[in-house]
Amino acid sequence: MNLVAFSLRTKGAHNFLRRLWTVFARFGLSEHRTARSLQTLVATLGQYGAYPTFFIPAVVLRRHVPLLRQIAASGAEIGIHGYVHNDYRSLTPQEQERQTRLAISVFRASQIPFAGFRNPYLGWTEEALEIFAALNFTYESNEAVIHDVIDLETLSPLLRSGYEKSLRLFQAVPPSIYDLRPHCEGHLVRLPTSIPDDEMLFDRLRITEPQRIAAIWSAVMARVYALGGLYALNLHPERALLCQAALRGLLDYATSQPEPVWIARLEDIARWWLERSRFRFEISPAGPQQWRVRLLSSARAQVQTRQLTVLERSPVEASKPPDTEDLEWQEWRIEAARCPAVALSPATPPAVRAFLQEQGYAVTQASPEEAANYSLFLDLPAGLGASPREQRAQRRRLVAQLEALSGPLLSFAPWPATYRAALAISSDIDSVTIQDFFLRIVEVARASHPQP
Ligand SMILES: [Zn+2]
Repeated sequence: MNLVAFSLRTKGAHNFLRRLWTVFARFGLSEHRTARSLQTLVATLGQYGAYPTFFIPAVVLRRHVPLLRQIAASGAEIGIHGYVHNDYRSLTPQEQERQTRLAISVFRASQIPFAGFRNPYLGWTEEALEIFAALNFTYESNEAVIHDVIDLETLSPLLRSGYEKSLRLFQAVPPSIYDLRPHCEGHLVRLPTSIPDDEMLFDRLRITEPQRIAAIWSAVMARVYALGGLYALNLHPERALLCQAALRGLLDYATSQPEPVWIARLEDIARWWLERSRFRFEISPAGPQQWRVRLLSSARAQVQTRQLTVLERSPVEASKPPDTEDLEWQEWRIEAARCPAVALSPATPPAVRAFLQEQGYAVTQASPEEAANYSLFLDLPAGLGASPREQRAQRRRLVAQLEALSGPLLSFAPWPATYRAALAISSDIDSVTIQDFFLRIVEVARASHPQP
């Protein structure tokens, strides 16, 4: 499907003509206009000590290597946004892999380092996740969390149906604690992204006043902050200047919360999540209602304690498991009514333990007879479930259950000390010039009928 057909299907002919007009208004024949937008985003974030993440299709990068090298040198992250700007859901797994490899080779030839992949139209597939992991990407950022911050009742039926169509296109999920935080699938970190993005606000909902946009983005930030999640805002560079005031509004809001918000590039967030996924608690009894806890973690770790008292903490020398040489052991003595860990039955498969540890919880194994000694005992012989969809539902349920648990529990906080939540400003550079915009139609058509 080419861009014209795609736009007509999702936006209607009327909207497509509006879009065509805005293309001429927002891009230029030279790189100048986009370069200014990218520099503005870098400079705006720089005022808050932060850097943005840009994603760009490889064929577009190839035409603008010096510009992107300059942007990367300013501290921004550059990630891959497809080989061409197409929807992986319309490609066979073999073709997804071929195009991902082509994109990697263009980035390598351009000497632009990359760690992440975001699909055009957030069109991720299960096969693509396997391909990204096999090709050693650190992360992907595709799962769209929809924040209910638009009052649909105020929209005309036409705008409302267009908005609902785009939610289906993006396979959006509601904002649960699990969905708002990163998670690992194998070695691949999955970083959620958030909608509505700038395109939905401007082009579909016709919301363009900076104050209103800042209020919508700040409302999303407030919810993400309350749940300790990640807000990955997506802002296309062609609207960066229009959204500059709104972006400042969001950044001011994020930096004025009682606890700090970590404003970071997606790559840094993914690397933190990998660091944190290796943290461990080891708990053993140390007398009546007392426990000896060994923690393996880095200096950035924050420990969350629920319904327990820490009596003593000391560093300790002990041998470390493989791949944890950069982490340090500590020993705590604590007082708690029950063991502050989730206990898993012997019949529960190791995948459940691995998932709960990655999510930061203290986990141990116990027999059903010992269940009463623990804050929570889980017997899940079916594990996380068979299909990826079932597994996601089960993980979502487990995190909700643990977060609502009333009882002693130790866990690692989702973010490095002393942050409460995370914010990443990401931007998909779909085109740099008007030529890129129209070449996209040809490139996507060509990539869907590859020459042998
Ligand atoms: Zn895009």
